[in-house]
Amino acid sequence: MEEKEYNLIRGKEISMIFQNPLTALDPSYKIGTQLVETIAYRRGINKKEAVIEARQWLQRVGISDVERVLKSYPHALSGGMRQRMMIAMAISCRPKLIIADEPTTALDATIQKQILNLLKSINQEFNTSIIIITHDFGVVAYLSDKVAVMYAGKIVEYGNTSRILSAPEHPYTRGLIRSVPEIGNKGTKSARRRLSQIDGVPPDLMNMPQGCSFGSRCKEATERCFSHPPGVVSLGQEHLVSCFQREVKRSDAAG
Ligand code: SF4
Repeated sequence: MEEKEYNLIRGKEISMIFQNPLTALDPSYKIGTQLVETIAYRRGINKKEAVIEARQWLQRVGISDVERVLKSYPHALSGGMRQRMMIAMAISCRPKLIIADEPTTALDATIQKQILNLLKSINQEFNTSIIIITHDFGVVAYLSDKVAVMYAGKIVEYGNTSRILSAPEHPYTRGLIRSVPEIGNKGTKSARRRLSQIDGVPPDLMNMPQGCSFGSRCKEATERCFSHPPGVVSLGQEHLVSCFQREVKRSDAAG
């Protein structure tokens, strides 16, 4: 695809919210300049109209002192304000899809919840699809309808969030969910439970094994897992998994 064709998609069809807005924004330009320029360029409107829209979008993402924010440099704002500004920039051209890469990682718990609620309301109000990239199962459970679990650059399990979280099928997904700490009252079973971990390290992406990429860390691995990679098995209800052991389960269920 040519650069010109990318420019027809960037911002207009697909927008991105980055993990760290401080590095995603230009430190040498004021927020107003960056937001107005983006809106004017992507929407093809003049600067005056773009300024009016910039004010409206900042209000929409919950920024009350709009004039101060427009005149501020990125470093002068809090992490939560900067992330709201990134969301305003991402949504200002009404894209069909927003990709949010760990959008709440750098924020404290209260602001995190506010930003997640904002993303949820944008999804409902503008009918914008959101792909959220995260390691946080709390965020997955709160925000998503569908989840795709990736290992070594590939999707190993996909399905409805509630189903994957309550009945994961891939050994890697199971390991991830088991390694989420539980909060329990002193003396209870959950408080005493030892935090689980997935032993071993991910494979070298430049030198991938010929079998399953999770093979060296998988407690369910058999000889077959090291000879060639598993295909994708459908377990029904849009639940897909890439694991030889689930092929066995599937054929057991069928037989
Ligand atoms: S294919 Fe084999 S090694 Fe890979 S996840 Fe399944 S059981 Fe484990």
